[in-house]
Amino acid sequence: MNHEQSRALYDRALSVMPGGVNSSVRAVRPYPFFVQKGDGGHVIDADGNRYIDYVMGYGPLLLGHDMPESVQSAVQRHAAEGPMYGAPTEVEVELAEFVARHVPGVEMTRFVNSGTEATVSAVRLARGYTGRDKIVVMQSGYHGAQESTLVEGEGDHTAPSSPGIPESFAEHTLTIPFNDREAARELFAEHGDDIAAVLTEPILGNYGIVHPVEGFHETLRELCDDHGSLLIFDEVITGFRVGGLQCAQGKFDIDPDITTFGKIVGGGFPVAAVGGKSEIIEQFTPAGDVFQSGTYSGHPVGMAAGLETLRYVAENDVYSRVNGLAEDLRSGLQDILEDRAPEYTVVGTDSMFKVVFTRDAPDSFEGHCEAGCTQREECSRYDHCPKNGHDVTQAETERWERLFWPAMKEQGVFLTANQFESQFVCDAHTDADIEETLEAYKTAI
Ligand code: PLP
Repeated sequence: MNHEQSRALYDRALSVMPGGVNSSVRAVRPYPFFVQKGDGGHVIDADGNRYIDYVMGYGPLLLGHDMPESVQSAVQRHAAEGPMYGAPTEVEVELAEFVARHVPGVEMTRFVNSGTEATVSAVRLARGYTGRDKIVVMQSGYHGAQESTLVEGEGDHTAPSSPGIPESFAEHTLTIPFNDREAARELFAEHGDDIAAVLTEPILGNYGIVHPVEGFHETLRELCDDHGSLLIFDEVITGFRVGGLQCAQGKFDIDPDITTFGKIVGGGFPVAAVGGKSEIIEQFTPAGDVFQSGTYSGHPVGMAAGLETLRYVAENDVYSRVNGLAEDLRSGLQDILEDRAPEYTVVGTDSMFKVVFTRDAPDSFEGHCEAGCTQREECSRYDHCPKNGHDVTQAETERWERLFWPAMKEQGVFLTANQFESQFVCDAHTDADIEETLEAYKTAI
């Protein structure tokens, strides 16, 4: 493959943008390819190379790169009528109604512009609603580029994970390992009366795809109820992907107080949301006192894209097709690993998948995980599925980044550049794409 144009663009970019990119995950060694355009389930780079795309914008593109006719015409109409107004529009109400109709834990929604803004606002809302400062997050969870959740450490011994964040933020953020019910109970026993909220992804999607073991979310729900704390589900990745239109909370039958959305809810445009029970969401200004505001919030073009995308998904049985393709891919990968690299693991559910370059997950959890595999006895993967961030940390990240990712790219398959982030099958992928991808994995592994 020729990459001359991409290399030249990267050289230019390095002079005017830090690291040559606008989001750090895009900077791959020795240089990223620059995208010229998308085409269904593929992207074409600046040198004309074509790749089967499983990055899918890091999650927003459930339908792939070609917007259905209904989405395209709604986007064009709203852009042509004047991009935005600083006054409310009908399409915001329609999207909020759609979300409330389908997502069990949502009665009301406040739209924002990014997943980060959604989790920042959700944390402020929980603190405002409860009058408490502390939040609990999962070790190795990710909730965007925000001060309160960029922490490292364990329990109440935490510190900011990035320069530029005052220590005082971390003082209010406690951590537990995902899936560790005992650690959750201990933390609540000590700090329960000060905890405003537990913030967790229903499935860790930024750290190797880690599924909840049976009873983990139920334990969090119970602890929050017993201590007057709120349960916040960060469904920025899982929302409208895992569990279909009901999202992961529907799949796992858990009723969070607050839910954050991003990615798919905007159909590829910068839209995100904080949803939940009216009594809580109405604490946002101007109905309540918890300040929240945004020039671009509820942007009509993004609202139209999100609404028409979700309507298309609802009317076209997208989930059964896309999840079926992903299952074909996961089981094909499973066969390849059994044959060639039994030290690695296939993870994922619905349309999410990843090969994690480790198999060191300790068999230390009671119960079974709630991925595609539901019963421990019946699941060949269970013992080796990572159960928390620590398990995933064993992964051979160097080998992934230095050897595996470039080997897949050179065969025309675009995967997430690090070992941790989920990859996504989309509705525009075909059986032929899956077959070609499996062949490429076989060679690269
Ligand atoms: N929450 C989760 C679970 C995410 O995966 C992400 C981003 O990947 C965010 C929040 C932040 O979203 P954004 O990048 O739109 O700010």
